[in-house]
Amino acid sequence: MSYSFETQQIHAGQVADPTTGARALPLYQTTAYQFRDTKHAADLFGLAELGNIYTRIMNPTQDTVEQRIAALEGGVAALLLASGSAATTFAVLNVAEAGDHIVSSPSLYGGTYNLFHYTLPKFGIEVTFVDNPDDPESWRKAVKPNTKAFFGETIANPKNDLLDIETVAKIAHENNVPLIVDNTVATPYLIRPIEWGADVVVHSATKFLSGHGNAVVGAIVDSGKFDYAKYPEKFKNFNQPDPSYNGIIYAQALGVGSAFGANLSYIFKIRLTLLRDIGAAVSPFNAWLLAQGLETLSLRIERHVENAKAVAAFLEKHPQVSSVNYASLTSSKWNKLATKYSPKGSGSVLSFEIKGGIESGKKFIEALNLHSHVANIGDVRSLAIHPASTTHSQLSPAEQLTAGVTPGLVRLSVGIENIKDIQADLEKAFAAAK
Ligand code: PLP
Repeated sequence: MSYSFETQQIHAGQVADPTTGARALPLYQTTAYQFRDTKHAADLFGLAELGNIYTRIMNPTQDTVEQRIAALEGGVAALLLASGSAATTFAVLNVAEAGDHIVSSPSLYGGTYNLFHYTLPKFGIEVTFVDNPDDPESWRKAVKPNTKAFFGETIANPKNDLLDIETVAKIAHENNVPLIVDNTVATPYLIRPIEWGADVVVHSATKFLSGHGNAVVGAIVDSGKFDYAKYPEKFKNFNQPDPSYNGIIYAQALGVGSAFGANLSYIFKIRLTLLRDIGAAVSPFNAWLLAQGLETLSLRIERHVENAKAVAAFLEKHPQVSSVNYASLTSSKWNKLATKYSPKGSGSVLSFEIKGGIESGKKFIEALNLHSHVANIGDVRSLAIHPASTTHSQLSPAEQLTAGVTPGLVRLSVGIENIKDIQADLEKAFAAAK
């Protein structure tokens, strides 16, 4: 029987602890695991038997949370990592290496833009940002023979613009490459990108999935639908023996039709190579904190969205606001996509342009009391920031504009406090910014 989302967020991947009977998820704060004998150890290393070896690669607390996130996203397997940035980096490096190319939407979290624009090219991976992510032709014309993946955010931070997942996935597949999406702002409660054709989903689980602003964690979920064995020339790393891991051929040993019954090659390949070698492992404690957050995900998101809709409507009518970026508003350019992909609401990270530009923006932020002035989103607390001078400050003014960041833009991450208190705090800040 397949349980509904609200039940899976509490139960998926977990049974009572077989050793102690503990019902809540135990925190396995251990580095290593005792092998039964030398054969057991050899079998684990040789993948003849699956099990725990060393916490950089896997951990029972982490394993439960991975299974739960995979279930919530509708994927076949997941991997937790030290941060959302590590998740994005590994998701790309798993399919692209020096000499390769990826195509991305320019509407991105500033850190991802930096990774793609500056850091990946230093590793020999070229990234083309499409001119207009809303135009299918822009994606088509960015493809090159060495393209290995498409990338976009389902609901982008901070512009609250939506990716046309179904259309972009179709173009990726016409070109035999997977679509990787960052689903941080939406969460699987609002959008399940795999159902629309995305192949890989990454998360900064630091945000809504953990939800309480107390752990930095990343996650990658694979749909299992992209069959790397079909493209032996394009994805050589999936189709040729890996001398660093007993000559394994990932697409054969772990792919479609393998003994595992599902295509697990994408996640296993990351775990066995990138995580082994680069080591951006999640701490068991942060995996455990993430599990606490996941148990109430749907309830929190319902309240986040209810409050965000009220804040967006309030801002739209406010005389000191010149524009509001929130796709669930009927005035938004992305309202049609929001209605299609995220009918419950386009999340709770929204932004607005305050009249009076940068100076009014600063005064506004400084006068907030209930809202915390922090570089974060997806906390139960309401948060506010001025992206141009903080999260996106390492970008040039032109790059900022490409990412949707104007000088007077204020970003809010609407929390789950009482809406009356949130609005009163915003009113007070507008009065101070006049
Ligand atoms: N993706 C999005 C949409 C984000 O907002 C962030 C962080 O703000 C990241 C990825 C990076 O995640 P982390 O801070 O967990 O490394």
